[in-house]
Amino acid sequence: NKVLVFKSQDDKDPRVPLLPEEARKLCQLGCKVWVAAGLGSSLGISNEDYEAEGCDITSAPTEVLDEIDIVLSLGPPSPDMAAAYKAHHVHIGSLNAFQNGDQVREWQDRGFTTIALDFIPRTTIAQKMDVLSSQANLVGYSAVIVACYNLNKLAPMMMTPSGTIQPARFFILGAGVAGLQAIATARRLGARVDAYDPRPDVEEQVKSLGARFIQIKLGETGQTKDGYAKALKSDQIREQQIAMAEYCASSDVVITTAQVFGKKAPKLITREMIERMPHGSVIVDGAVESGGNVEGSIADGLVKVHGVTIIGYRNLACRVAHDASQMHSNNLVNFLSHFWVPDSQAFAFNPADEIIQASMVTHQGNIVSHRLNLH
Ligand code: NAD
Repeated sequence: NKVLVFKSQDDKDPRVPLLPEEARKLCQLGCKVWVAAGLGSSLGISNEDYEAEGCDITSAPTEVLDEIDIVLSLGPPSPDMAAAYKAHHVHIGSLNAFQNGDQVREWQDRGFTTIALDFIPRTTIAQKMDVLSSQANLVGYSAVIVACYNLNKLAPMMMTPSGTIQPARFFILGAGVAGLQAIATARRLGARVDAYDPRPDVEEQVKSLGARFIQIKLGETGQTKDGYAKALKSDQIREQQIAMAEYCASSDVVITTAQVFGKKAPKLITREMIERMPHGSVIVDGAVESGGNVEGSIADGLVKVHGVTIIGYRNLACRVAHDASQMHSNNLVNFLSHFWVPDSQAFAFNPADEIIQASMVTHQGNIVSHRLNLH
């Protein structure tokens, strides 16, 4: 029940995994919470703020590990931490395990336990712990704000004595958690919004937000039992591109959020389609981290192609780091509280529990995740 909160490998990430108020909730459960010095500095939160909530501060996290059972983080263990962990340590964070196969094998060899917050199952009971959803929601919001900031037009219709401005046209591709929030945000700003997703269930959700759902006949599409889209075949992707080209050509903003769980994101917007878009229009590639939906998008870059601005900023949730940290902290506290056993005053991550079954990646020298093909 001794917990250390540690930032992450990525120094540029301004989010904080656990805010002071949520750290207090863990202390109230009965945990002893250590916090790495400077943890909250990107949000103006001081070490004293954590101390005031009952936490201890350490400026040398690897040196206090002997006293620690569980490490909470935004991401995977840093190389220093991974080298310092002993077999009894449990690291909890978004591990990005599909992209970090070599590291997963290293964690297995080192024998410590890793729990991937980005593998939390899409079940009702786990919804409040679902980091992927809480952050994707903010990605959708930020994608619209970033697009508007780079667009030389207004989003809403405006009728003024100087003339009438037509609303901007948005096309949102992929209507999962991020896409639906992008639709809602663009609608709140008064834009006209079209959207497409190959999962048939999504049409009603898109329409309920006041957007138009684009019908594209691709033959059989569908979703897995976990609610994720099935990957389309290459001829279906081609059909989709042909059908979407017209919508892209008449859009001021295209926001793509199309993902297939555990796979590279489908490349859906081609250079040809981009060249037909209006001068000054903007594309935000919200899938850039998993390979990108847009030809020519660059991770963390802004490029102009034929007068079209293509934005590939990674982790757009970082642009609203305060609220992203708040949601992450809530997710973490909800996760940990679920596994707290008051009688023994300790956490029990039972491998038979359905949330642990889905999210545990390495344990006792084994790769236990059935989602990874690394055995
Ligand atoms: P995701 O991030 O895996 O993918 C984003 C979207 O891309 C999905 O809607 C997917 O259908 C879409 N997509 C895939 N291929 C595409 C293509 N070729 N063209 C256009 N779009 C394409 O998905 P997500 O946001 O994690 O959500 C997946 C589903 O799971 C949603 O229905 C969501 O509501 C559901 N969900 C349920 C829970 C829960 O019950 N606890 C929690 C989170 C999400």
